[in-house]
Amino acid sequence: MHVLLEDVLAQNHILQDFEVDYHTPSMGAKTLLLNARCIAGTRNSEPLILLACEDITEHKEVERQKDLFLGIASHELKTPVTSIKLYTQMLQKRFLKAADAASATVVAKMDAQLSHLTSLMTELLDATKLQAGVLSLQITSFDVNDLVQDIVEEMQHTTDRHQIQIEGDVHELLSADRERMSQVLMNLLSNAIKYSPEAETILVRLTANTGTITLSIQDFGIGITADQQAHLFERFFRVRDAAHETFPGLGLGLYISAGIVKQHGGRIWVESQEGAGTTFFVSLPLK
Ligand code: ADP
Repeated sequence: MHVLLEDVLAQNHILQDFEVDYHTPSMGAKTLLLNARCIAGTRNSEPLILLACEDITEHKEVERQKDLFLGIASHELKTPVTSIKLYTQMLQKRFLKAADAASATVVAKMDAQLSHLTSLMTELLDATKLQAGVLSLQITSFDVNDLVQDIVEEMQHTTDRHQIQIEGDVHELLSADRERMSQVLMNLLSNAIKYSPEAETILVRLTANTGTITLSIQDFGIGITADQQAHLFERFFRVRDAAHETFPGLGLGLYISAGIVKQHGGRIWVESQEGAGTTFFVSLPLK
């Protein structure tokens, strides 16, 4: 059995991984994870199907409690943080009026940290909404070119080192949630800035094909190895290597972006080479 399993693992193909909920009077509600693998060319070249079944009821409940906690905590923390932010802005104005530049600088730094805290809490809240399937969209029609111009202009203010260039002048009407699509573009651009500290150029391309619009964001930064690329859109995933670990983050931005794009019926994917740079693509249906 041991030997068989070893060559099974060398050649296997995962056919399917699926969760099944069921209820029995004696055991109550249970969730099972079923995993089917097709094993080719083991005994007598007969294909073999291996079925594994795992009871993940407890694991699902822990996940549910964790999501609930994250949702409540990030929601409840947002209100006091928003008022502290307002007070720091009032303080900053007072210091500036009193020509106390040193104090105004300290308060400006507090304000920047509060903005960072707010965006972390928003990420946590969005991720829990996505996980629970309650992230709602407000669909309107807008020119996709205007959205790209607005966001690029906004993101350009966050960096002195990089030059964000737009290629392609596609004026197509997109039916989507403008706020959420801005969030996706901002997230991909802030990653491009963050993970290309030595490079200067970031390219944003817009192309239209029959019924589809494709947006790409290319940087010439630290890149991502092929084996890590497969996990990029998973919740809390961060690349663990010396080049990436110096940058802060929760590993939620791409998970949220992928969720938003999928909810619009679109596709998101990545092409990257370690040390040479990364391109993220988002394609969306025009209708
Ligand atoms: P984070 O907040 O950690 O950046 P993301 O979900 O946005 O979370 O990204 C997940 C991980 O993918 C990052 O931690 C980083 O390791 C990697 N990554 C994302 N974008 C890039 C990029 N443009 N270049 C290199 N690595 C990237």
